[in-house]
Amino acid sequence: MNNTNSIHSLYIHIPFCEKKCNYCDFNSIPAPSREKESVRVFDEYIEAVAKELRVGSCELRVTTKTVYIGGGTPTSLNNEQLDRLLGKVGMYYNTPLLEEYTIEANPGTLDEEKINILRQHKINRISLGVQSFHDRTLKLLGRIHSAEEAKRAFMLLREGGFKNINIDLIYGCPEQSLEEWREDLETVCALVPEHVSTYCLSYEDGTPLKNALDNGNIKRLDERDELKMYKLARTFLKKNGYRHYEISNFAKDGMMCRHNIVYWRNEGYLGIGAGAFSYTNRCRTSNEKDVQRYIEAINFKGKAACFSEQLLPEKRAGETLVMTLRMLSGITTEEFLNTTGFDLLLTYGEKIARLVKMGLLSFNGKRLRLTQKGLSVADSVMVEFV
Ligand code: SF4
Repeated sequence: MNNTNSIHSLYIHIPFCEKKCNYCDFNSIPAPSREKESVRVFDEYIEAVAKELRVGSCELRVTTKTVYIGGGTPTSLNNEQLDRLLGKVGMYYNTPLLEEYTIEANPGTLDEEKINILRQHKINRISLGVQSFHDRTLKLLGRIHSAEEAKRAFMLLREGGFKNINIDLIYGCPEQSLEEWREDLETVCALVPEHVSTYCLSYEDGTPLKNALDNGNIKRLDERDELKMYKLARTFLKKNGYRHYEISNFAKDGMMCRHNIVYWRNEGYLGIGAGAFSYTNRCRTSNEKDVQRYIEAINFKGKAACFSEQLLPEKRAGETLVMTLRMLSGITTEEFLNTTGFDLLLTYGEKIARLVKMGLLSFNGKRLRLTQKGLSVADSVMVEFV
């Protein structure tokens, strides 16, 4: 049940990056180019986040089991700022129950000293945004690091004692061949991270990559080639000991991302920072996206929520189904009833029967899940339940 007594997960958003990548439409802004200016903005932001953390810890009883610091690039903060931010998180939320403490890192922003700070604050999982092990693709994506630097960052993290590392990869890039994607998968398996996420490149409005596509300067890969790459990832990673447990995610035994599973089970969480979403008491809220407006709202009101929606039971049930189907384990009729109060078959029986007939879902009388065929067209399956 999603009420404040059962919130175990905390997300903190750091919306700064060294430079904006060509494909990115996340809530992130490039750090101001003048050093002094960027220190001031980062400092003000950390103070605002600290205030929101404190208010959140007073209002909600959050028994934290997972913390996820994402962005943006949290590791674009300088060492002193990172140390200060993590100190504040620890002060309010580092409970003895904390199982998983993740931070996202860009390979171009890590050095030994920064890695030591992460260790000192008991972070135990790193999500490393590598995206590709080919410099041409990295350049096209506008990443700030080379393939060699990405490998070096991974090794530095290992030497620094991190035993739980995720590597993010992107496939379906312009001019990327299936062979190059296979090489990326080979390289990632040779590094042996505990977790691998693979995402198909998407062209979001307003990004330089989408503009280049619209202007005819780059060519999108054929959808069938994208699909071949996804299938290759599934078979290759499986052969190398990774369990495919969510549409885009693969993990060694016992190393699934516990924090993201909270989202996929549609459970409650508290989100802190510019643009962060929270889901508490069956109510979804989101903070001001703009960094300056976020800082001002926190300074004046102690809160920055600018949107809130109380989810009606039917809507919540539909969302729960869509989110849980992202996981390959799917959901049982009993779990669905317990979490939403609805009978799965009475509510969605007709649609389920049709999708089972089409070979996109499988249902054994108890458990509903996507089939291998359904995985490749998951979005169009999900749309049926929204
Ligand atoms: S590092 Fe990540 S968040 Fe930052 S611009 Fe690139 S893709 Fe976006």
